This record gives sequence, structure tokens and C-alpha cells, in this order.
Amino acid sequence: MRYVSTRGVAPALGFTDALLAGLATDGGLYVPESWPQLPPRMPGATYAQRAAQIIQLFVGDDLPAATVQRLCDEAYATFAHPAVVPLVQLDDEHFVQELFHGPTLAFKDVALQLVGRMFDEVLRARGQRVTIVGATSGDTGSAAIDGVKACANVDIVILYPNGRTSDVQRRQMTTVQAPNVRVVAVDGTFDDCQDMVKAMFNDAPFRERMQLSAVNSINWARVMAQVVYYAVLTDLLAGPVNVCVPSGNFGNVFSGWIARRMGAPIDQLVVAANANDILERFINHNDMSAVPVVPSLSPSMDIQVSSNFERLLFEMNGRDGGMTAEQLQRFRTSGRLSIEADQRDEFITGRFQAARLDDTETLATIARTYAETGMLLDPHTAVGVGAVGKLRAAGTLRGTTVTLATAHPAKFPDAVERATGVRPPLPAHLADLFELPEQFTVLPNDLAAVQQYVGSTFL
Ligand SMILES: *Cc1c(COP(=O)(O)O)cnc(C)c1O
Repeated sequence: MRYVSTRGVAPALGFTDALLAGLATDGGLYVPESWPQLPPRMPGATYAQRAAQIIQLFVGDDLPAATVQRLCDEAYATFAHPAVVPLVQLDDEHFVQELFHGPTLAFKDVALQLVGRMFDEVLRARGQRVTIVGATSGDTGSAAIDGVKACANVDIVILYPNGRTSDVQRRQMTTVQAPNVRVVAVDGTFDDCQDMVKAMFNDAPFRERMQLSAVNSINWARVMAQVVYYAVLTDLLAGPVNVCVPSGNFGNVFSGWIARRMGAPIDQLVVAANANDILERFINHNDMSAVPVVPSLSPSMDIQVSSNFERLLFEMNGRDGGMTAEQLQRFRTSGRLSIEADQRDEFITGRFQAARLDDTETLATIARTYAETGMLLDPHTAVGVGAVGKLRAAGTLRGTTVTLATAHPAKFPDAVERATGVRPPLPAHLADLFELPEQFTVLPNDLAAVQQYVGSTFL
């Protein structure tokens, strides 16, 4: 299996090279050169077995089947539920798939527990080490740290904006005691952190010396690992089903697009957005224009531009990388992106739906769901459940629908308590989170200081 860049210039790579590269050298994202067909589930297969079966199609000959199976077994043994991603029923035709039973209580664990182990495996075989540097506004940092904290060949430095994450999110990063983990509180915003990471990657000698690597959501392996739970939900429910995805960077819902492309009986993919509604405006009004981010109760969906949308754009352009690169260049200069009517007809109309919820509607959805079912939803999942409610009421969404629950309610206890009066307790494996000592370094909002720190902390 080979991987090509969405911008058409970078050379095609095998799976392990695409895994370690993250971003292609032409600035594009890697996608497989063709989409395989989803194999039927073997009767009695566990989540880890179904995962290994599907992931092997994308890994090809780069890793032996026994290795892929072992990595999947280890990754999904860290989940606190025997089904890994259990389905729970809300009403006659609406289910929730709980993707939050991993170590850090957000769906990002599903991919990062596996991707961290894949990195370590590949680096060990090659006799290499890397330093992962990333910026986080909350969920990605803790999931990435947990995914690599036991890796012998990976060091990780995570930058977060000092004072701007929730206490649970911060403590999930700062209480990890591992020699290869560093957490840096930058006196700045998330964008400042992100800009510093980009600057370090653009400093070629530094990048080379440090063997810098990234596990942000543009990494192909993360998108790949997420395809599995879409397959699993269609294994369990009589198809076709709609899937509603609380969305930010378009990584999760694009994994759903892939599952459907591979033959999973998925009808509508529903993009659920908060007030940061660029994707909703694109799907419903053909308006993709970037506007400043506004903070919401679902911070992991507070994005301005959805980086993984590039992968769908590449498909809409008939896999023409030059055309995709040109379109993105126009988007960067004008802040607007438009697609042709025939592309909309083929890829969007009748395939994607979208709805947005503001914070008031999100709190109302948490309250209503708790009153009707006793289930506590985190604010991200509530945006999804509320979006399904709106589209059903409008008559556009019919039949069985699964909303992906992307975070555990205890990860966002303030919003849940505000809506229901109930403060969700942390699950047993995190019950001592507020007693553990914290370890982090505060640095000024200054690239030279941060780069100096990254360059010397593991010496
Ligand atoms: C990251 C995240 C999202 C958004 O996922 P994308 O793949 O960026 O669309 C939604 N909910 C939660 C809880 C997240 O952590």
C-alpha cells in the first residue's frame, strides 16, 4: 500500500514512512493511493481483532500481521470497557457510540493509543528516536502524552496556553511521571503555541537535529485508526445507518467518509458544529469562509479552518493534487473556498448533512437528555445529539442514527453540572487525578526561549 500527497508533488511513501512523516514535504496530507474494500467481520471478533483486520489493509507489507494484532491488543486493552466503544441507546432510532473509555476520556485515545505504539515499534526496528512536539488546547496533548509515555524511542514536549485549559485537561498532562514527557505552560494563547510549533518545524537544521515529529490530526495513521469504530457500529446495527459526528478539524468525520467509501452501510454523515460553524456553513450554504474563533463550551471543536477537509477536497477534485494545491492557495489569500456545482452534487448533497448548536442549545440538550434517559452527555457529544434532534425535526434525517460520544462527561464537569445539577465523577482510573503532584515548566511567549528548552531538555 502506497500513500500519495493531496498536493501531488511529494513522492509516494509506504505506510511506515507516511506514519513518521505526518505532513508531506509539499505541505499536503497523505492518503492511500486507492481505497480497499471493507472485509466482513469474523464471527466473534473482538474490537482489537476487527481493528487489526482493517488496519492491515492500510499497513500492507510494512508490518507483519502478528505485530499489527499485538499493537491493537495492547492499545485497546487500555480502555475501561470490554466492548472498547460500546453502543448505548437513547431512543427508538438513536444510539450513542461511547468513544471515551480510553485513558484520557476523549475519542482521540482510540487513535493515539495505537499510533504511539506504532511509532515506537517502527523506530525500534529502524534504530531511530524522535522528539514529538505539539501544541494543545486540551484533549490532543493529554491523549498524545498517554499514547507515548511508555515508548522507549519517543520523547514528547507538549505546549499549552497557561491558564486556558480546564483543570482536568491540565492535570491529565502535568501529572504523568515519565522520563520522556515534558509539559510546557506558555504565557500566551493556543495560537501562539501552535505558531511556535510551526516555527520549530520550519527551522530545518533544528528539525533535523531533534528529529522532530508530529502526531496532530493530519497524521494519516490517526484517521486510519478511527475508521474501525464506524465499521464496528455498522457491524452491530442493521444498515444503513446515519452517523453524527461532533466536528472540529474534520478528521473524525472523514474517517466515516472512508468507512462508507470502503463499503460500510452508512447513509448520511452528519457534521455537528458549535458556534464555530465553518463546516456547517459549507455544507448547508456552500459558504466556506474563515472567521475568528469564538470560545464555546465545546472547546475541542473551536476551530477556524478544518485541516482534514483537504483530504475530501482532493477526492472532490478527482485526486488532482495540483488543482487541490491551487484551491487551497486561493483560500489562504482570499479566506474563501468554493467548489463547483457538480462536485457538490456528487460529494455533498444527499451524503453530508450539518447542524449547529450554540452554548444555550448545548446546555438544553444536556439537560433534556439527562431528564429523558438519565444519561450525562459532555458538551461535545451534546452538540451531536442536539444536531440529530434538529435534523429529525426538520424531516431531513430518517432512520437509525448513531451519534459519536467524543468525550466523557467528567472531562467537562462544569458544563454538565450547570445543565443538570449533577457533577459527574471521574472514572476509577483517574479518581486520584486531583491528588497527584503536577510537573510542568512555565515559559514566556517567546520562540527563542521555548526552542532553547525543547533543544536541551532531553540532553
Ligand atoms: C478533537 C475533538 C473533537 C473534534 O474532532 P475532529 O476530528 O477535529 O473533527 C470533538 N470532540 C472532542 C471531545 C474532541 O476532543
